[in-house]
Amino acid sequence: MSETAAICAAPGHRSFDSRFVEVHRCENEQCAHLFAIGVDANHGVMHELGIDGEESIYEERNDRLVAFWEDRQFVTGDSMILDVGAGTGHLTRSLRERLPEINIHCVEESDLLRDQLESEGFAASKNLDSISPDRSFDAVLLIEVIEHVADPVDFLDRLREYLKADGRIFLTTPCGELRNGSRATNAYDTPEHVQFFTEKSLRAAVAKAGFRDIAYEYIDALYPRGTSAGPSATFKRFATRIARPILATFQGSRHLTGFIEP
Ligand SMILES: [Zn+2]
Repeated sequence: MSETAAICAAPGHRSFDSRFVEVHRCENEQCAHLFAIGVDANHGVMHELGIDGEESIYEERNDRLVAFWEDRQFVTGDSMILDVGAGTGHLTRSLRERLPEINIHCVEESDLLRDQLESEGFAASKNLDSISPDRSFDAVLLIEVIEHVADPVDFLDRLREYLKADGRIFLTTPCGELRNGSRATNAYDTPEHVQFFTEKSLRAAVAKAGFRDIAYEYIDALYPRGTSAGPSATFKRFATRIARPILATFQGSRHLTGFIEP
């Protein structure tokens, strides 16, 4: 059994048991990383993704996210994109719909989902090892992936080798512990999560992997707006859109999101 790797050299101690795993916390308060203990190296691999279930929930959000990336010049019409953990491909499809000339290479562990991606005309590899080392990409998508990875520093370091000199990684992960100590996030809701990042531990992991930094951002486009109608739903959407960024300013965000620059 090989354990998940911590981020810095400081020891961790048992902190609490989540619904699915025993969680240890790094004793270095400048890191405070939380991680699963006693799980095997493949614990983070997802096995039960439905092929169609996610599409309708994410379609509208994906369109806004792609528009946000274009606005930030993270993707352009002829970008080379590496989508790590492409899953059912809902985001990959949204990218191609909006930017038909875009070049997307997917990494997806599941044979079933990889076959599906390939049948839709996307290049797909099982893991980083099966991508030719002379490939390089303008943009790497790492959306809800790093919390599944046994050794995040090694993983980020390997991704760096696939980035062009001015390429960037867009990363999202549920926050394991907010600035105020709260763990009321969805980090612990999924059995396959093995890393629970704090703002500090993700920044430390990024630096240790040889990147300059991660620029954290609150990205409204990431959150589905919901489709319910009526005045109360409108108010709820409005309140949520205003409240989320304000809360994020004080507590830190329940979701860590941002661009990593080489
Ligand atoms: Zn640490």
